[in-house]
Amino acid sequence: MDKKKLVEETIEKYAKYINPGLARYYKFAQLDTVEWTSAGSKVWDVYGNEYIDCLGGFGVFNVGRNHPRIVQAVKEQLERLPLSTRTLFNKHQADLAEMLAKITPGNLQYSFFGNSGTEAVEGALKLARFYTGREKLISAENSFHGKTMGSLSLSGREVYKKPFLPGLPEIYQVPFNDIDALKKSIDKKTAAVILEPIQGEGGIIIPSPSYLKQVKSICEEQGALLILDEIQTGLGRTGKMFACEHFNVVPDIMTLAKGLGGGVLPIGAFISTAEIWKVFEENPFIHSSTLGGNPLSCVAGIETLKVLQEEKIPELTWIKGQEVLQRLREIQAGSEGMIQEVRGMGLLIGIQFGDSDIASLLAMEMAQRHVLVAYTLNNPTVIRIEPPLTISYEEIDIVLSRFAESLVSVQALLDEIGGE
Ligand code: PLP
Repeated sequence: MDKKKLVEETIEKYAKYINPGLARYYKFAQLDTVEWTSAGSKVWDVYGNEYIDCLGGFGVFNVGRNHPRIVQAVKEQLERLPLSTRTLFNKHQADLAEMLAKITPGNLQYSFFGNSGTEAVEGALKLARFYTGREKLISAENSFHGKTMGSLSLSGREVYKKPFLPGLPEIYQVPFNDIDALKKSIDKKTAAVILEPIQGEGGIIIPSPSYLKQVKSICEEQGALLILDEIQTGLGRTGKMFACEHFNVVPDIMTLAKGLGGGVLPIGAFISTAEIWKVFEENPFIHSSTLGGNPLSCVAGIETLKVLQEEKIPELTWIKGQEVLQRLREIQAGSEGMIQEVRGMGLLIGIQFGDSDIASLLAMEMAQRHVLVAYTLNNPTVIRIEPPLTISYEEIDIVLSRFAESLVSVQALLDEIGGE
């Protein structure tokens, strides 16, 4: 195989058949190579160059890449029955739903499976509107819930929304972590309030400890449902199985996706209580998906939940996260103000820079040193560190030392520009 040709042709095909802007973006970000193999926290390009992946497909690899148990379970299912008839009962879908009912907090019990995060959010919105018979939805400014019409309407960043306005009707946005603003906005017409327990794409924003609890009780007073979007924060990422557990809050509806497929297959889910789910009972086809909840993805999901529990991934993530946060704060202290803040929980960590150019330069310097990072989608001044949760301490050392080196290079570059 002529590898150079393979890379050139792939980039050309991106420019010709996928999106020329995306091709330019990757090339500009010094990412002009082709990914080829992966394992654990690492990815190798077609030339065999090794990268430590601290973006992790936007936080997908909670159990690491190519976890042998998940790959094996999927291979076996692939040979037997990859997709469902959609008319017979499917054991794997039933098993995954049962497992989710057992590990999610409170009395969350029923699950619907789709193929992505945004689909999970769409389903959650439909369920909330159907159950309450109300139309109004409240979300937080700066939030990220996906990019289909409903989830986009709820999300934060203007640049993603503007061409598609007006979006869904009766959407209201309030500042995150501002309980008074929510009190003013919510009323008896509100179907649901949807929040990320920690805003991910908004720049890793952690609310005050009592915020979500207060939101829940205000929702209860008004007869509105609380939807917690745990698509990015769920399944161990923040050092608990679900981020809402840090805040002692149980949502009425929870959404999951990303890591649920074990970094092997796509799957999303929304989960709610028996009381709320009863509106789906009379016509169980009122919400459906041809490929959602397929046996392959469900098998991946089942094995993922087992691995998360048996390998104590949430607990270990908390400890690793504490270490990474502390060491990043040490680097921050010597950064002469270049880093404004380091924040996060578990291995959902954001590094706040003064402006987006510095953040981009930093990501490029890291890419040159074969560590993959990126900014948070709604806030380009924040670089996220979101590696596979199975990242080793040795790999953490490498990432942090390359981060410190990259920072020095960015500083030198800025000095050079400033001196001209
Ligand atoms: N919700 C949250 C909190 C997310 O972080 C994301 C993706 O980053 C989504 C929803 C959308 O998920 P997907 O890209 O799988 O549609």
